[in-house]
Order: sequence, then C-alpha cells, then structure tokens
Amino acid sequence: MNDPKSWLRKNPQVRTIRVAASDLNGQMRGKRVPARFADKVVEEGTRFPLSVMNLDIWGEDIDDSPLVFESGDRDGVLRPTERGFVPMPWLEAPTALLPIWMYLEDGRPFEADPRHALAQVLKRYKARGLTPMVAVELEFFLIDDSGKSLQVPLSPRSNKRRKAAEVMSIRALDAFDVFFTDLYDACEDMDIPADQAISEAGLGQFEINLMHQADALHAADDAWLFKMLVRGLARRHGFAASFMAKPYEDYAGSGMHVHFSVLDEDGNNIFDDGGPKGTDQLRHAVGGLLNAMHDSTLIFAPHQNSYDRLVPENHAPCGICWAYENRTSAIRIPGGSSKARRIEHRVAGGDVNPYLLLATLLGAALTGIEDQAEPPAPITGNAYAQDLPLIPGTWKDAMDAFEKSEIMPRILPPGLIRYFLATKRQELRYMAELSPAEQAEIYLDTV
Ligand code: GLU
Ligand code: MG
Ligand code: MG
Repeated sequence: MNDPKSWLRKNPQVRTIRVAASDLNGQMRGKRVPARFADKVVEEGTRFPLSVMNLDIWGEDIDDSPLVFESGDRDGVLRPTERGFVPMPWLEAPTALLPIWMYLEDGRPFEADPRHALAQVLKRYKARGLTPMVAVELEFFLIDDSGKSLQVPLSPRSNKRRKAAEVMSIRALDAFDVFFTDLYDACEDMDIPADQAISEAGLGQFEINLMHQADALHAADDAWLFKMLVRGLARRHGFAASFMAKPYEDYAGSGMHVHFSVLDEDGNNIFDDGGPKGTDQLRHAVGGLLNAMHDSTLIFAPHQNSYDRLVPENHAPCGICWAYENRTSAIRIPGGSSKARRIEHRVAGGDVNPYLLLATLLGAALTGIEDQAEPPAPITGNAYAQDLPLIPGTWKDAMDAFEKSEIMPRILPPGLIRYFLATKRQELRYMAELSPAEQAEIYLDTV
C-alpha cells in the first residue's frame, strides 16, 4: 500500500485533496479538503450521506427514489482504500485524490459501494487459490464545444463517407500528439499502466489499452481514474472527451473491453493448454459468462444510450455467443502465444462503471468454473448474419432481466442489485421525459 501519510509528507506541494468514491454510475462523488487536514481524513475517515452512492446520473430526482430516504438518509463512514493518494495532474493546482470505501456505521461494507462488490468477488477467487489477471481497453471520442467529434484538420470531406477513414491511422494520433504526450505523462504520475494507443474507426475516436495486472481492484481504479483524467486533460487542451457508448449514429460506439486470464497458486495460467484452444477451465468460464450475459446486460449497458451501440456491423455484440479470433462475437478468444490464452469480453460500453464491470464478469466466469458450465459450440464467421440468442435490445428489457435473474444474486450483493435497479428505474423515468438530443447532451458530458 502506498502509505497516505508518508506520501503527503513526500509531496508538500499538494495543497488540496479530494476524497472520492465511485457511485453506482461510476461518477466520482466526494469532498475537497485542505491538505493540512488530510492526516485527519486518513486516520479517521470522513462521512457523507449513503444516498450519494445511488444518485441517478444527473442527480435530478433524488426524492423520487424510494431507497434514498428509507433509512432517513443517514451518513456512511468513508475510509481510504489501499490505493492511497493519486495525483490529479489535469488540475492547475497540485492536488491529490484519495479513493475511499463506504461503510455503514456498524462497520459493515455499504452494499451500494461498487468497489466492495468487486472486492467480494475477488475474495471468492482467493478462497480457491485463484487470481484473475485483468487488462482493460478504453475507447473514447475527443469532441469540440458543440459536441461534434474532432476531425483531423486535413480532412474536410463528408463524415459519412469517411466513416472509418482514420482507423489505425498514424496521422490522427499525430494530430493530437501534444494531448497524448500529456496523457501518458499523467498516467505515469498516477500509476496507471497505459500501454498502446490507436486511432479507432470513428473520426476523433481513440482507444488506449492498459497493461494486464494481477490486482483487479487496481485495474478498476485505473479505468475509473483514467476516464476522469482524459476528460479533465481534454478540457485543459481546449476540447472535451466522452466515454458515451454511442455518441454518433454514423460512427461505431465506444466500448470498454476486458481481457482476462486466471492464475493458480503457482502463477500458471489455468486457461493455457499449450495450444490454441485453451483448457476445460477456459470453456467453463466462457459458459458462466454466456449463462449470465442476458441477465447482466444492464451492468454492461447501464444507460438509455448504451443500447444504440449494440447494433450490427459496428464490432459491438448483439448475439450471445463466443468464438476464436472473431470481433463480431460477444466473447472472443484471442490467438497468439498459449501462455497468454485469455478471454476478451466485448459487451460493455465506455459508459460502464468499471468496478461493476469487473465484479460482474469475473463473478460470472467463476460461477461457470464452479458449475463446470458447458457453453454451446463457438461460432465461426460473421455473428451478425447468424441466428443467435440476443442480448436484451432495450434498456427496459435489460432491467426486467436483471431484476428477475437467478444468476445475478450469485455474483453481486443483494443490496447492490436492489440499489442499482432503483437507480436505473429512476433514470428511465427521467430520460423518458427528454428528447434523444437532450439525453445525448447529458450523457456526453457525464459518463
Ligand atoms: N468500438 C467497438 C465497440 O463498440 C469495438 C471495436 C474494437 O474491436 O476495438 O465495442
Ligand atoms: Mg477498439
Ligand atoms: Mg478489444
């Protein structure tokens, strides 16, 4: 653990800290505290109302949620996580963020804290002597003040015809090189292992992959912090950034793919059979993921707009299936060295809460390993052209499936399921009153 008190002493330039937790939507919520009082926060924690964790995305209809006031909206107790302090290089003044856990007064974890949900799944892995190895890929758009995606200055032609013109183009990366240089420097300061960057299919769309790591909580923190960093740094560079799942009808949406394998106590990858196919354990993990996919879509696609991304021909999944080396499939088993045999889960949009994403998919995979689940045969060829069971096509269907699920309670705490559903139902009521353009405006700068 990065000891927060000695970190502060080694960084006397830090004048202010942020004490922040992820709410159910992955929004950062917390307080601004002068650095001279930071020791007190580290030792004693701090407090804020439990309801803050299950606010709807816009914080609009707080009194509409039956769960918010059911307990008189009492305080939760917030304690620093093992991550310690993280610099916030996108701010002008030297500032550090202290990610926190939320507890109830009696010392139990608050079930609507998504970080606790992930920690619980990891405990189940540990009890079996297993450790997931996780890497997250983040796609996002750079956008201007009017909400249009940023175009490479050399290309004034019609966007529609140039749909994928900049895919993997170096000139698109070069056009924003000052931004990317700052971004990679900031990741280093923040201990976020940013690996490769590419220009994605949409104009102004990019993807950055984080290195795989054996600490899934660190990986989830990284994705959560990275989203704040990219948005904050883009603002400093005079534009904006968004992880909204499908900001533009003409371009592919932004996903948050997760690659993972599982290590045993000796550090061996339990998916590696020395060949291209992978072990029985890999197949069971895939079986668990496919069994839970329909019911867990609400976690991977948590907003109204998320469902606009899950359409054919955009490299985003529609059918519940798996395949080797196939980007039209919901689950892809990448090729390459058998030592790195792993699962790529491609369902989540960039608007997902990274803690709930990892909790749900690692939990579902473990359930499959425990049950020795058998998936159907892997598909081959174009998944969009095949008759497959489908991921829920609407937000409402995803909520109903999540609510009725018998699998989800094996993966997430019952309290979290209840709070998450209430938050989503409330957001649905709110969004139903807005036009798609008004909804887009909200999602573009929140998720
Ligand atoms: N942008 C696609 C998505 O929405 C993914 C493209 C890719 O395969 O990286 O998930
Ligand atoms: Mg991509
Ligand atoms: Mg990918």
